[in-house]
Amino acid sequence: MNVVVCVKQIPDPAAPQSLEAGTHNLDRSGKLILDEADTYGVEMALQLVDKAGTGEVTVVSMGSASDLAGVRNALAMGAAKAIIVADDSLRGTDALGTAKVLAAAIRRVNPDLVIAATESSDGYTGTTPVQVAELLGLPSITFAKSISVDGSTVKVNRQTESGYDEVTSPMPVLVTVTAGVVEPRYASFKGIMAAKSKPIEQLTVADLNLDGQVGPSGARQSIIAVEAAEARQGGEIVVDDGQGADRIMQFLDSIKVL
Ligand SMILES: Cc1cc2nc3c(=O)[nH]c(=O)nc-3n(C[C@H](O)[C@H](O)[C@H](O)COP(=O)(O)OP(=O)(O)OC[C@H]3O[C@@H](n4cnc5c(N)ncnc54)[C@H](O)[C@@H]3O)c2cc1C
Repeated sequence: MNVVVCVKQIPDPAAPQSLEAGTHNLDRSGKLILDEADTYGVEMALQLVDKAGTGEVTVVSMGSASDLAGVRNALAMGAAKAIIVADDSLRGTDALGTAKVLAAAIRRVNPDLVIAATESSDGYTGTTPVQVAELLGLPSITFAKSISVDGSTVKVNRQTESGYDEVTSPMPVLVTVTAGVVEPRYASFKGIMAAKSKPIEQLTVADLNLDGQVGPSGARQSIIAVEAAEARQGGEIVVDDGQGADRIMQFLDSIKVL
C-alpha cells in the first residue's frame, strides 16, 4: 500500500514571527520545521504501511526549499521519499493554488491513500486537503481519530462533537487526521542518518504544468489586513465558597468540553 502524506514546513512557532516587507505574507525565510500537526499523519501512514507489509510512505510538500529540515524530519521518522514543490512564482499562492500544486505532485505517485492534517498550525484555513481530494477526484473523510485498512477499504472513526461516526470508503481516498489519531514517534539516530540519503525530488511549477494557475495571478483570495492578536486576558480565580465545583462545571459546560 502506498501512502502520500501532505506535510507543511512552517516557521518555528517558538521563534518571533514577522511579515515579508511590503506584503501580508508570513516571512518564511528563516528556520523551517515540520508542522507538528503533520507528524500525526506521518506516524499513521507508517503504521498502516507497516501493517500492510508492503508499500511505502511518500511525503509531499509545497513551500521554500531553502531549509528542508522539516521534510527530513518526516524522512527520519521513516518515510521513504519526499517531493517538494518550490518555486519563486508560488509566493502569494492561496489555499486553492496550494491544493492544485499538491494534487499535481500527488498524481505522480498514484497512492492508495492520501493523508493530511485537519488544519495547519500557521495558516489553519483547514480548506486545503478537501480541495486536493476534489481536484484528484477522490472521496475525502475528515477529522479521523483512527484509521484502519481492510483490503481495499479504509475504515475511519470520524470525530464529531458528541462522539464519532464510523465511515468506510473504497481506496484511493484522502483522509485528514486529528492530533489524537496516534502518538508520533521521535526520529531515532539511525533514522536521522538514513534520512540523509533518502531521495528528495524538487519540482517547479513548470514541471507540474501549472504555469499561470498558481501564485498571485491565479489566487482568488487575498489577505487585506493583518492585525496583532489581542493580548491574553488574565484568568478568573474561583475562590471556593462552597459553590466552587458548580462554578467550574458551569465554565467547562460553557466552553463545551463536557
Ligand atoms: C491569500 C493567501 C496568500 C498566501 N501567500 C503565501 C505566500 O506568499 N507564501 C507562502 O509560503 N504561503 C502563502 N500562503 C499560505 C499557503 O498558500 C498555505 O499553505 C495554503 O493557503 C494552505 O492553507 P493552510 O496553511 O491554511 O492549510 P490548511 O488547509 O489548514 O492545511 C491542512 C493540511 O493540508 C496540508 N497542507 C497545507 N498546506 C500545505 C503545503 N504547503 N504543503 C504540504 N501540505 C500542506 C497539511 O497536511 C496541513 O496540515 C498564502 C495563503 C493565502 C490564503
